[in-house]
Amino acid sequence: MTCKDAEKLIPLFLDDDLDNQDLSDFLYHMESCAECKEELTIQFLVKVGMKRLEDGNTFNLRRELDGLLSDAGRRLKVRQNLVMFSYVLEGFVVILAAVAFALHLFL
Ligand SMILES: [Zn+2]
Repeated sequence: MTCKDAEKLIPLFLDDDLDNQDLSDFLYHMESCAECKEELTIQFLVKVGMKRLEDGNTFNLRRELDGLLSDAGRRLKVRQNLVMFSYVLEGFVVILAAVAFALHLFL
């Protein structure tokens, strides 16, 4: 993923609107690219900070962003595991169907 791509995805990330592949690439890029992390931090501060200013609660936003990033990483793993599980299940169903078909042939 290029920095241009990553920047385009920042608003989507903040709205939790990325699919697994994009989210995975995005998180990976954020870990390895200080410039984009800085851009993400700024956009996060603007988006969340404006709301917090209204609430009069602006402290620890940076820590919140770190939390958001690690949460996203965790949820991504869960989602990827679910995808994996559905593949396994699908494979299992295919095997069952094949067995049922074979039984049908031989019985
Ligand atoms: Zn970058």
